[in-house]
Formats: sequence, structure tokens, C-alpha cells
Amino acid sequence: MNVLLIGPPGSGKGTQGELLSNRFQLAHIAAGDLLRAEVEAETPIGKSVKEYLDRGELVPDEVIIELLMPAVGTAVDNGGYVLDGFPRSVGQAQVARGLAERAGATPDAVIYLEASRDELVRRILGRAKVEGRSDDTEAVIHNRLQVFDEATHPLVDYYRGRGLLHVIDANQSENVVADRILAAIAHLIP
Ligand code: ADP
Repeated sequence: MNVLLIGPPGSGKGTQGELLSNRFQLAHIAAGDLLRAEVEAETPIGKSVKEYLDRGELVPDEVIIELLMPAVGTAVDNGGYVLDGFPRSVGQAQVARGLAERAGATPDAVIYLEASRDELVRRILGRAKVEGRSDDTEAVIHNRLQVFDEATHPLVDYYRGRGLLHVIDANQSENVVADRILAAIAHLIP
């Protein structure tokens, strides 16, 4: 089973991705985590993307695609993936589709975690105190939400048009959201 999780910052992609991947023994691939690991390790990729992350901008498509594709390939060979944070634009989705179709790695379901702006900001500011991410300042949070609205939200219609989309109300508690996701993908569970 291959699942995409899309949603604005703070919508719970990471939390739900972890729950889902554990439950079905799928690889959890989080685009932001992979990028932050590169920055942390000061690799050439990490050095080239640091400024994008710090500003809350999308890194160039070819960088994220090159970073993710090997992990996606391995995941598909081992039963599937939960991909959180990719694609983040219709352009990325189109490139990924071409690659995924050749590799038998297309998504079976796309979960859109929808939450109100107030709830998102409240959650991000709450976790900022614990995690200390460089992009969790108020100005950058605002920019990340705007990038979501402009670049990523159009994916909702893109995947609805392909019949893959499930919209989940992500304002609710972790457990309720997890249950709703399970219900949405029940048809994929053997
Ligand atoms: P959040 O959803 O809370 O913003 P992520 O960890 O998913 O957190 O992403 C953090 C940052 O990583 C983004 O602001 C962006 O700079 C970069 N990033 C993540 N995924 C992508 C992607 N698919 N394309 C381009 N940049 C990305």
C-alpha cells in the first residue's frame, strides 16, 4: 500500500505518518526530515538547501526528487510507503507520476489533512518550544502557510480529479484523526 499525506504545516502529517507506517509496516518517508538530516550532516545537498528551509521556501524540485526517489524505490520493494511532505506542488506531482508509473510506485490513496489556520499556528508555536526548528519563528511559519496555500493546496484538486483524494478533518485529536484515516483507506487493507 502506498499512501501520500498532504497538509499544511502543523496538520499532523508527521504524527499520522508514523502511526500509519507502524500499523501497516510501511516505510515512513518524511521529506522535511530527510532534508533536515542533510543540513545537520552538512552534506553538499544540506548546504545547498539550508537557506530554503530557514526561509520556509520549497527547495528546488530536482533536489527533493533525487533525495526521495531511492527511499521510495526501496519502500515499494518492501511493501509500500507513507510519504509525508511530497509532492508539495502540482509540478512535483507531475514529475513524480512519470517516475512512479515506470517503477510501479504510484499512490493508492492521498490523505489531505485539513485544519484551521488558528489550530495550525497554535500547534506549530507549541512544538517550536520543544523542537527548536529554525523555521518555527512567527514570520517563517506565516511564509510556510502561504507557500502551502499557493503551491501545495492545488494538489487537492489534482488528486481529487484522479479519484485518489480523502479529506480528513485534522482539527480533531490525534486518535480521532487516525481513526478517520483508517476508515478512509479501509478498502486498501487486505
Ligand atoms: P512542515 O510541513 O511543518 O512545513 P516539513 O518538515 O514537511 O514541515 O518541511 C520543512 C521544509 O522542508 C519546508 O518548509 C521546505 O523548505 C522543505 N521541503 C519539505 N518537503 C519539500 C518538498 N516536497 N519540496 C520542496 N521543499 C520541501
